[in-house]
Amino acid sequence: MITAAQTQTLLAAIALVAGVATLVWLGLALIARISPRASLTMAGANAAAAAALALHALRGVLPDALTFWPGDVLAVTSFALLGAAVPAVTTRQLHWKAGAAVVIVAALLMLAGPHGGDLRWQAGIVDVAGAGLTLAAGVVTWRSLGGATSGRRTPAPLALPLFLIAALMAARGAQAFFHPGSAPDMREPTEFNLAFLWTALVLTLLQNATLAFLVLARLILRIERLLERDPLTDTLNRRAFDQALAHAHAWLRRGRGYALVMIDMDRFKQLNDSLGHAAGDAALRQMVQELQPCLREVDRFGRLGGEEFCVLLPDTGIAGAALVAERMRALVDQAPLRWLEQDWPLSASFGIAEAERDDTSESVVLARADAAMYRAKSQGRNVVQA
Ligand code: GH3
Ligand code: MG
Ligand code: MG
Repeated sequence: MITAAQTQTLLAAIALVAGVATLVWLGLALIARISPRASLTMAGANAAAAAALALHALRGVLPDALTFWPGDVLAVTSFALLGAAVPAVTTRQLHWKAGAAVVIVAALLMLAGPHGGDLRWQAGIVDVAGAGLTLAAGVVTWRSLGGATSGRRTPAPLALPLFLIAALMAARGAQAFFHPGSAPDMREPTEFNLAFLWTALVLTLLQNATLAFLVLARLILRIERLLERDPLTDTLNRRAFDQALAHAHAWLRRGRGYALVMIDMDRFKQLNDSLGHAAGDAALRQMVQELQPCLREVDRFGRLGGEEFCVLLPDTGIAGAALVAERMRALVDQAPLRWLEQDWPLSASFGIAEAERDDTSESVVLARADAAMYRAKSQGRNVVQA
């Protein structure tokens, strides 16, 4: 026997979970300032859900005008906010206009529809809007998670809770459509309502947990990036480059070689002294941008310090490195630095070295590339030396 107490307890439990989640997301947004826009939107989604459920539970207690239409509008609002919050974490853009339009249209349709005893019209609108909004958000989230930019930490199935919520709302809509006798009141002690509420409780928990995971994964990726990047040029910093180099050297014994291209800008001190430090910084950024297209996905570009850079080329011999370095040299030489309506010629000297089987450590290879670079300097600069 299913009792009204069961469905009412479940309804209260979902409202409670949504209420607590509201506070947690508010804390993340306002105190910890972690993904504040998405977190705030998620707090709104949970708050609207909690309020909608509370109003649903108060049907018959408060006047109908206060519970029915406002409660259903809040329910649709909750789905719209959820549909904006989840993709906001993965795409970094908060799109709210489509969701707002759905809320307005749904609210007007509910006002225009039949009133009084027949509640299926209103419930149907909530179900269709809820399913549509979460399905659309699921598709956007799935696509952005599967994309190349998201990285290994965020697999596409994390969009699954949205699809499950969409399915749940569609099931409720279908139930009301095919069984017109069944009451759309979630408190009615029916088997369907019991199953629906249990599923809704689990999905509320699951959706909140999944999004919290996504937010944290994004935070970790950002911290990792800060730890390994040079803030001026966005190349790998010394520590990260050394790590990549040690990794490449470890592969040497297993038959995978690598080459290094050492780069040092020519007469950089002169540029700094004449045009100022800001111009020097701009020249460093310009050079890095010019050289990026010469690199493959597997290559590592690091800033060793000052105006010295090094490129690690896995699975590359001295001939390949020479080709890359010569292309880089020509690129730097071609484009002067444009500074305050004035052109300042740029160039760099390149030293290349290939890892040999009997190189005891990566620092030996680095020293060879460095020595080659100094030979390039002594030969008058703007050349490549092996
Ligand atoms: P060479 O052709 O022999 O390489 O001459 P150089 O002037 O480039 O060589 P040197 O190593 O003597 O000078 C490097 C200068 O780079 C010294 C320093 O003022 C400048 N520098 C180092 N780091 C930065 C930076 O982050 N920004 C700017 N603007 N300048 C930097
Ligand atoms: Mg220099
Ligand atoms: Mg130098």
